[in-house]
Amino acid sequence: MAERVPFVTHQTFIGGRWRDAASGQRLPLLNPSDGSALAEIARGSADEVDAAVRAAQAARDGEWGRLTAAERGRALMAMGRKVLERADELARLEALDVGKPLRQGRADALALARYLEFYGGAADKIGGETIPYLNGYTALTWREPHGVTGHVVPWNYPMQIIGRSVGAALAMGNACVLKPAEEACLTALAIGRIADDCGLPAGALNIVPGLGEEAGAALSAHPGVQHLSFTGSVATGRLVQAAAARNTVPVTLELGGKSPQIVFADADLDAALPYLVNAGIQNAGQTCSAGSRILVERSRFDEVVQRLAQRVRALKAGPALADLDLGPLISQRQHGIVSRYLDLARDGGLAIAAQGEIVADAPAGGFYARPTLLAGVTPDHALAQEEIFGPVQVAIAFDDEADAIRIANGTPYGLVAGVWTRDGSRALRMARALRCGQVFVNNYGAGGGVELPFGGVGASGHGREKGFEALYGFSALKTVAILHG
Ligand code: NAD
Repeated sequence: MAERVPFVTHQTFIGGRWRDAASGQRLPLLNPSDGSALAEIARGSADEVDAAVRAAQAARDGEWGRLTAAERGRALMAMGRKVLERADELARLEALDVGKPLRQGRADALALARYLEFYGGAADKIGGETIPYLNGYTALTWREPHGVTGHVVPWNYPMQIIGRSVGAALAMGNACVLKPAEEACLTALAIGRIADDCGLPAGALNIVPGLGEEAGAALSAHPGVQHLSFTGSVATGRLVQAAAARNTVPVTLELGGKSPQIVFADADLDAALPYLVNAGIQNAGQTCSAGSRILVERSRFDEVVQRLAQRVRALKAGPALADLDLGPLISQRQHGIVSRYLDLARDGGLAIAAQGEIVADAPAGGFYARPTLLAGVTPDHALAQEEIFGPVQVAIAFDDEADAIRIANGTPYGLVAGVWTRDGSRALRMARALRCGQVFVNNYGAGGGVELPFGGVGASGHGREKGFEALYGFSALKTVAILHG
């Protein structure tokens, strides 16, 4: 299945110009559905990062920095319209590059358009306040861009993550340097082309593909960057935060999770079951907010596991463009990680309650994993504690509300949680007690909600993106006190 990508992919986008990396070096991108070569990308280095930061600074000092908030908003909305026009093409690119089912690629393209519309519309609606102060004074605040913002993003939802972080940063008037992931960055480059086509002023958005330890580390450490937005693993997040600390700049960390979906005995199971499974297999489980732990009140545990198992057995994994329930994992490496967790389950004698299938005609070179439900896992087991980042869910029984809270809060992570109950008071008590950044009651929104502030606590990170909250994060508040008598 040799696929053609409809544009040149091996260049960086710096200061409005497409150019090769100075070293001429490139990195291969593989198609996860069959392991074939999909494209080559530039191997950007510290030199390209430095050029990109300078271009961004020049944009801030130049045309981009002179635009009014309304003009910036219009520019973002123009990009949003272009994304909608090209949604099918972007969906296909994302599906090929990440290995996700085509309809998920389409959902991601539409989410990108929504982010650009939302932040485009919000750009001129963020003001400050006047503050009652001493007699004879007028005190007021306004919001200013940080300046140059660095954005390091992972491979699992490139369009959504770029939309939410770059979209918000541009809306507030920052100029951005984006370092997409080396495993998947075709839609990041496509977004650069859309910005170019829409006439976004040169240098407002710069893109430097490359390796994390090279381009990513150089961007995180660059003294010309005034704010860092990092989405990825905990280990890398710590490195980025340390680099930010050396330059005393703020950093938003959107890291991993081991999010619980908590099912009480009074839950509407017919409504819950599709969510419970989908939150675990969406994007082949490679979702930061995957609902990977299913906590069920003991009196209905066996029934829920049995009904979940029925659904899991019916799941089919196959090539992205076949648009089945799930596609392959991103890489051979990720496949190895998921396989090791399944070996751990087998070696520990854990019950595999159900597995879905890999379709017979899935190409042998693809990185497929069978969706798997494990039952009878103790809350402190590695499989119930660690982020697997694959289509593996564990079911755990709990006794009462207090027990559910203890188990739910009992990992280092705290990103998202779901609560299923018909008892409104209990839903509110749970929402208050859960240690995480988002709680969904009688639904689950893995990745969703352009309007909803998103981010974690603990090992899941800090800072918030999405919604209006992101606009505060991507700006600095200035207070002005005027003595006029
Ligand atoms: P990763 O940390 O390996 O890579 C993420 C990005 O960081 C990539 O662009 C990579 O090139 C770059 N990078 C790697 N080393 C770097 C370094 N030394 N300095 C600077 N940048 C570096 O993460 P991953 O394995 O690609 O992504 C999966 C992780 O991301 C999971 O833990 C997942 O939960 C998390 N994630 C979180 C969110 C969220 O919003 N909270 C969203 C998606 C993914």
